Amino acid sequence: MTSFTTRMDRRNIDQVMMRAAAHARKEEKFQQGNFEFVSLAGHILESSCKHEEGIQVEGCLKCKYNRELQLEELPEMVFARNSLKISFANGFIEFNTLDALKMVCADRLPDVKVGASSVWQSARQDRIQQISEHQKPFDWTFTTHYKGTVEGLKVEPTTERIDMERLKRRDQIVFMSSVTLFEDELADHGIAQLSARIRVMKEGYFFVLLRFYMRVDDVLIRVCDTRIVGDHTDNHVIREWQLREAKYEDLHQADSEALLDVDRAWMHLPIVEEHVDRISGDVEKVID
Ligand SMILES: [Zn+2]
Repeated sequence: MTSFTTRMDRRNIDQVMMRAAAHARKEEKFQQGNFEFVSLAGHILESSCKHEEGIQVEGCLKCKYNRELQLEELPEMVFARNSLKISFANGFIEFNTLDALKMVCADRLPDVKVGASSVWQSARQDRIQQISEHQKPFDWTFTTHYKGTVEGLKVEPTTERIDMERLKRRDQIVFMSSVTLFEDELADHGIAQLSARIRVMKEGYFFVLLRFYMRVDDVLIRVCDTRIVGDHTDNHVIREWQLREAKYEDLHQADSEALLDVDRAWMHLPIVEEHVDRISGDVEKVID
């Protein structure tokens, strides 16, 4: 009798908690020309389920993450409710945490070719020991080459480029928003962070940046950027994806202060890989 009542109370509390979490979401929406932008921000993903153990609960994000990800460990802070979505034509491009984490390697240690650097060895030693003793290996730097989730739009490689000079102009901003998707301090050895931000200019164009930033102190800096630019009268956008990285030992020209600031460090990092796509709503129309 008592346990039954307790269980009922527990279930009610779970429902209230889940509703509260859903309502704590902050939504920002903006429409300009052919495009609609929505950013969502909410609580961090709970470290454990709020419901009874051993069952899967519909609507429980923790259950969903456990089910869909093979990762042995998640970043310290997972903002599972955060996202940024750009809708146009009959589709959308979205940046969301779950799809980004799906691209983190779940069965190998990080592929960081730094040889036998003693700094690297000591920096990662405790972490690696932890992982190899208790867990299956995974990329504990949480490196993801995620460049967004696309639905209902055509993606094709292009030689077009984003006009970076225009982005440097101080045009009037009519909407801006930024969300963090996940963050981890790499056991106090640096940082791994994925975030997305948007700026819509009065003149009619917009700029989105999804940035994965990873720094293992004194060893390596890696930045994986996805930039999207579009114009309000267009039916397409240009997406530039770029991976940059460098070892500290190759960054002598930069001062150490600068290396702690991603925007300053970025300029010193060589491009390792790059892809440019045109994403359009030019899906062939059926004529009656
Ligand atoms: Zn759950």
